[in-house]
Amino acid sequence: MTQLEERRTAASVLVIGTGAAGLRAAIELTERGVQVLCVAKRRRDDAHTVLAAGGINAALRTMDPEDSWEQHAADTLRESYWLADPRAVELLCREAPAAIDDLVRYGAQFAREEDGGLTQRFFGAHRFRRTCFAGDYTGREIQRALVRRATELGVAMRDDVYVTRLLVHDGRVFGAYGFDLEDGSRWVIVADAVILAAGGHTRIWRRSSSRRDENTGDAMRLGADAGCRLRDMELVQFHPTGMVFPEESAGTLVTEAVRGEGGILRNASGERFMERYDPERLELSARDRVALANYTEIAEGRGTEHGGVLLDVSHLGRDVVLQRLPRMYRQFVDLAMLDITRTPMEVAPTAHYSMGGIRIDPETHATDVEGLYAVGECATGVHGANRLGGNSLAECIVFGRIVGAEAARWSAGLDAQARDRVAIAAARDEVDVLLARRGEEFARPLQRAVRDLMSECCGVVRSEDGLKEGLVRLAEVAARADAMEVRPDIAGYEDLAHAFDLQGSLLAARATIQCALERRETRGAHNRLDFPEQDPRLQMNLVWAADGTVARESVPPSSPAVAAALSERPEVDTAGRLLE
Ligand SMILES: Cc1cc2nc3c(=O)[nH]c(=O)nc-3n(C[C@H](O)[C@H](O)[C@H](O)COP(=O)(O)OP(=O)(O)OC[C@H]3O[C@@H](n4cnc5c(N)ncnc54)[C@H](O)[C@@H]3O)c2cc1C
Repeated sequence: MTQLEERRTAASVLVIGTGAAGLRAAIELTERGVQVLCVAKRRRDDAHTVLAAGGINAALRTMDPEDSWEQHAADTLRESYWLADPRAVELLCREAPAAIDDLVRYGAQFAREEDGGLTQRFFGAHRFRRTCFAGDYTGREIQRALVRRATELGVAMRDDVYVTRLLVHDGRVFGAYGFDLEDGSRWVIVADAVILAAGGHTRIWRRSSSRRDENTGDAMRLGADAGCRLRDMELVQFHPTGMVFPEESAGTLVTEAVRGEGGILRNASGERFMERYDPERLELSARDRVALANYTEIAEGRGTEHGGVLLDVSHLGRDVVLQRLPRMYRQFVDLAMLDITRTPMEVAPTAHYSMGGIRIDPETHATDVEGLYAVGECATGVHGANRLGGNSLAECIVFGRIVGAEAARWSAGLDAQARDRVAIAAARDEVDVLLARRGEEFARPLQRAVRDLMSECCGVVRSEDGLKEGLVRLAEVAARADAMEVRPDIAGYEDLAHAFDLQGSLLAARATIQCALERRETRGAHNRLDFPEQDPRLQMNLVWAADGTVARESVPPSSPAVAAALSERPEVDTAGRLLE
């Protein structure tokens, strides 16, 4: 590759990622007359966002007039085990109704009541009905509407640019470097501001509800290499039921509706084990308790041959299954050639959502690097130690708009933007070195080694010994990665993308384990075998820097209005409510 094959382009604002967060930011920028370029490593109509099923939250009060944004904020803060930032949560909940209006304006077809008002349903630990939905394809519908609006506005979008590095000079971002996934040509994109909306890191576990090659921790690596700190990386939500078989579909979500409809969990000996863990609510117990029960059965040797437990709906009868769980029926026929009306599904906990991520200002989403913003699942602040179902899509839309406005303001205020040839050369060299290297290691098996060690040492349940072993094994994989060979072929530069995916995963895994070691307590999704209780002294956010240090940051208090809603709230019974 010679320098001549390096393409150069400029944008006032560069958005990395065309999921819900990135597209909403791009729309805001364009509507404000700011020139924007959006790049992604995956087709815009197939971003991870399309997987979202259940819904998006806003206290619209169409079904429950006594609801309020303050109550939405109170529910979110409580569910976060007091680690969410009240400033971010309050902004989210106050602005969520306007975000739904935006989506409706862009043409999103949500379910409606006979009088034309938007239908809202219960979702997880919400006190009132405040989840809008479009069947069980809410993410797809939102993504469709955003792509349509961005296209109408003429937003420049490229789905074939893999970003390998952010370009920074003197603590200020001035663009990004990447390569074309088809022909390998390089991209130098200079910009006044960069918005990172490149998703989370849940694909670094063997079982993940993300698809192959998404959520590999790219955003965390890009941010950390640029000078950002990460926060609460140990806080990862595990969904209790993901597929375990066949291997290539491992982790694909098995909706909680299966248990809601009467699905029964059994171990390999046929025992209905939830009778031991929660005799009253059985399979309708809370998500973290079911995840822990499934994990324990498997870890203690009562799992199936493929390392799962059995989830059976055959007693419901074929008609009920086909009528109530058609998507699951099809999923198992398509992926596992299994008829769930006759044969139990094999399931195990699956890494589902990154609650930690890039540390940002809770209101502007500015990072530690000037001109660089982070938004969506790659950012942190709203969910604390447990995400309330339906809040992440709301977060993408609310903060996508805000971050677009902030980046526009930053760009308008710049007198001049310094570029740095040394930074560009370093980014170029990084790709050249990878392509030139000959060795005996390949990205896929190394990625698999990361996933194995994260599942075994830093999964649903963690301990000091296991986490330390994880760090040692991770260092071994990182050393092997130095001998990694990359061989693009006639089909494209996917192999190079896998090599960078691996770099992202290595960094995200290190940050996750190092934070998990520091959180010596059990809180929300973070279970420490050696510290089974919640520790009030650790009602703190953990801030990770690239040198491996982890600092504590205290959580500010809520506003008086939300504090009042918090004090009023009775316990909410979540039985039978979807949490996805
Ligand atoms: C099965 C499932 C069900 C869910 N259901 C719900 C729900 O009902 N309600 C809810 O609120 N949330 C739900 N979620 C969570 C929600 O879908 C996600 O949190 C949200 O869609 C994340 O959007 P995003 O814009 O931050 O990132 P993504 O949609 O992940 O987009 C990331 C973008 O970054 C790009 N990218 C990544 N790396 C690079 C790189 N190196 N170079 C260039 N581009 C890059 C990708 O191509 C992509 O365009 C669900 C998640 C799953 C998996």
